[in-house]
Amino acid sequence: MPLDERAFFTDRPEMRPGRFTCPRCHRAGDYSIKWVRRVKKDRPPQGADEHDRARFAKLRDYLLRLDEEVVCKACGKKFEIPSQHSLLFVDQLAGLPNDEELEAEIRAASGETEPDAPAKPTLPPRFTRKSSGWK
Ligand SMILES: [Zn+2]
Repeated sequence: MPLDERAFFTDRPEMRPGRFTCPRCHRAGDYSIKWVRRVKKDRPPQGADEHDRARFAKLRDYLLRLDEEVVCKACGKKFEIPSQHSLLFVDQLAGLPNDEELEAEIRAASGETEPDAPAKPTLPPRFTRKSSGWK
């Protein structure tokens, strides 16, 4: 019996901003959406057999959206969040707001000027992927 995938991850709830357009009134709004961040554990769980270990090796951190609908801020009607945005791999988040950007915003807000970020060298994912999850 294969182990449930959830045995390989530690779940952390996370609120993320999302911008959606209401299908009824066609107005866009910013919403706070509930997600869970699944962070891969450091090692496979007890009882993992060879097959489970192979599965574990291939897994990577991801975010799963828990909220399926929002209430439009303009007209008050509920609408569904497009389902293609329900799962994100953490290594796809490069370029999206993250902790580093947040810290940059905080520095900017506190009056420090933000130097131009140096262009990041592009490396294949296997060089940039973190093996132990986000700290
Ligand atoms: Zn609306």
